[in-house]
Amino acid sequence: MTLPVRKFDAVIVGAGGAGLRAAYELSKAGLKVACLSKVFPTRSHTVAAQGGVGAALGNMGEDHWHWHMYDTVKGSDWLGDQDAIEFMCRMAPEVVIELEHFGMPFDRNDNGTIYQRPFGGHTANFGEKPVQRSSCAADRTGHAMLHALYQRNVHSKTQFFVEWMALDIIRAPDGRVLGVTALEMETGDIVIFQGKATLFATGGGGRIFASSTNAFINMGDGVGMTARAGIPLEDMEFWQFHPTGVAGAGVLITEGVRGEGGYLLNKNGERFMERYAPTMKDLASRDVVSRAMATEIKEGRGCGPHGDYILLKLDHLGADVINKRLPGIRESAIKFANIDPVKEPIPVVPTCHYQMGGIPTNYHGEVIAPKGSDMSVVVPGFYAAGECGCASIHGANRLGTNSLTDLLVMGKSSALSMLDFIKAEGPKHAELPKDAGDMSLTRVAALDGKKGGASVDKTRSEIQRTMQAHCGVFRFPDMLVQGVEKIKACADSVANLEIGDKSKVFNTARIEALELQNLYEVARATMISAEARKETRGAHDRADHHQRDDVNWLKHTLWYKEGDRLEYKAVNLKPLSVETIPPKARVY
Ligand SMILES: Cc1cc2nc3c(=O)[nH]c(=O)nc-3n(C[C@H](O)[C@H](O)[C@H](O)COP(=O)(O)OP(=O)(O)OC[C@H]3O[C@@H](n4cnc5c(N)ncnc54)[C@H](O)[C@@H]3O)c2cc1C
Repeated sequence: MTLPVRKFDAVIVGAGGAGLRAAYELSKAGLKVACLSKVFPTRSHTVAAQGGVGAALGNMGEDHWHWHMYDTVKGSDWLGDQDAIEFMCRMAPEVVIELEHFGMPFDRNDNGTIYQRPFGGHTANFGEKPVQRSSCAADRTGHAMLHALYQRNVHSKTQFFVEWMALDIIRAPDGRVLGVTALEMETGDIVIFQGKATLFATGGGGRIFASSTNAFINMGDGVGMTARAGIPLEDMEFWQFHPTGVAGAGVLITEGVRGEGGYLLNKNGERFMERYAPTMKDLASRDVVSRAMATEIKEGRGCGPHGDYILLKLDHLGADVINKRLPGIRESAIKFANIDPVKEPIPVVPTCHYQMGGIPTNYHGEVIAPKGSDMSVVVPGFYAAGECGCASIHGANRLGTNSLTDLLVMGKSSALSMLDFIKAEGPKHAELPKDAGDMSLTRVAALDGKKGGASVDKTRSEIQRTMQAHCGVFRFPDMLVQGVEKIKACADSVANLEIGDKSKVFNTARIEALELQNLYEVARATMISAEARKETRGAHDRADHHQRDDVNWLKHTLWYKEGDRLEYKAVNLKPLSVETIPPKARVY
């Protein structure tokens, strides 16, 4: 069957912060831009970002991009590539001011400049003391940002395809990427979106874990599609657990609460972070705080009848500060924990929050894959930005506020690379291979034809429970080995999913099954990469190898779907203009 083809200069999959920032840059330049999204653009997960966007504006005292860079390298536990980190930190002030000019309603200081709050791991003068670097709009920063960017796109005439799900990447025989196949949810029709350049901005896959702050749409689609297209995935073992998800519900309570002066308590009423991170205390980086909390709980100092959570106290900030700076948090705590934080502390636990790894790119947003011994060969026509991409800015652990910065910087940077590429391509589109739609048609036909297959719900929760139990905040060697077996054992079910409803119009069962096939690739890559890495670094904490091992493991993991093959590539320790920040012990 030949599929209908729609042609654009640029095809962008994803309408979160990264996709919208890129789409705007391209449509503003007069290009014909398609932007596909499973949900209405302003419902993308970026809308949930609370705490803010990091940039050394220096509005609240002296700050410098070089200090921001130092914090990011240290936060990454030296796994981040220092060229990409320098690029992001240098560009950050410019893209935040740009966003302000797009109409972003930032909180203000009395003198009219943007208000900035302190955030975990962000310091002045190379680790000396906390600095105020997070620009925010109360605790609804992502919401404000997404709306500002969406409106820009409407103005510049980006063509949105809302409630369309991209299914597979189309590659030419020489490997270049020519676009995607996509399914229209309203009709069930499948169409080819051909672009001279294609950008993935599909967000994270935090739903591989049973307890997650991520939206239900964060199923790792782009990452799964990339793996199926034969491109490796980078550093998938590194997942950030946010210290403060509401116990039981997983809903996020921003680190901004601790930035504004909130702190954590164990069942004895002790501010235990003073023991784990004497300088930064509750504002140490997220992996450090999450592990401290998990340790308190494990050693019997957790709170509540089962001793299984920690308390986040903020009532001492007073109702005025809470209502002005943290109104959404108050609402979430009342709704999801039945607690009013103006009066009582909120019960919290570490919850999966962010994927540091993803589709390998350079800081221009170009997707790179090894060819023989050359580890940085560009896949022509293919770009990735935002949480699904791995530039690698965040290395083994991301600092709070650095993802929104990454969306703006990498969204813009990848769009500028695409612009050059599209111009060089000239007016004509490449010829599509005859089998362009086959992989997607086969997958959908298999679902439609299947009788007596596996349940989508059961398979998904089996994967999520396995990831949570075998690959969480602390990782144990025997559990990881078992985890690999368990995840591999899910392959059969994933390949033989059955949906009861075979209709075409708004068939969400079919969508969920297709998403699950992507989620599975993400989970499998994670478990196998984690089992193989025999050290503790950033968010990857192994009980049997308790130290960071720079001699053997200062390198990025690359996982290939084919044969679960692993390769490794060197970390780039060379920044663009400043000196290398050499690895040292990471203490806060
Ligand atoms: C609760 C919460 C709070 C956070 N707070 C902060 C914060 O304060 N500061 C910070 O820096 N970071 C924060 N983060 C992290 C940050 O918000 C995310 O990393 C970032 O927003 C991801 O943006 P994105 O553009 O990459 O993807 P998303 O915003 O997740 O958007 C993904 C887009 O891809 C589309 N898509 C996905 N798959 C497909 C497909 N198959 N076909 C078509 N479209 C598809 C979706 O519809 C969506 O439009 C937070 C994260 C969470 C979960």
